[in-house]
Amino acid sequence: MPGKNPRQKNSLQGKMEREKGPMDRSGLQRTTIQFSLLKPIASKWIDHCDKCKSVFLRAFYDGEGSISGHNLTVYNTERDLLAYVRRLLDSFDIETLPLSVMTRAGTRLTDPKTGKTYFRKDDCFRFSIRTRSLLTFSQSIGLTIKRKQTRLSQACLEIKQRSLL
Ligand SMILES: [Zn+2]
Repeated sequence: MPGKNPRQKNSLQGKMEREKGPMDRSGLQRTTIQFSLLKPIASKWIDHCDKCKSVFLRAFYDGEGSISGHNLTVYNTERDLLAYVRRLLDSFDIETLPLSVMTRAGTRLTDPKTGKTYFRKDDCFRFSIRTRSLLTFSQSIGLTIKRKQTRLSQACLEIKQRSLL
């Protein structure tokens, strides 16, 4: 843990790393794809065909998705990116729940030189896939991260068994 290094204890960087830690663990702060960078290539490459869309969605969910029970959810600070992902899923008849926003608690940063304190607030957006669409997601998209795919398969198995009752 770099934040525990005593040499960095009083530096701004040390503070930022310490305060950033918990957010990183929950995955809320991490944004691996910038939609502004993705947009110009999206219509040409991702929207090209179902195979290209599926490859993109799988990579996106491998990185940004989290599955717990029957909830497959993605979190991202870019609303436009999530809106785009929802449209792609819709083209596979994968139903999603509406986008919701979470305003995370402000991160406090104190400048050691001026003693001034700044608060930074980033909105984070999320949406989940409807339970009844998890099977379609698993078949049309799937996941390559083993621990996530195992949970997805387990959820699909439970949903299948439930529908047989
Ligand atoms: Zn294609």
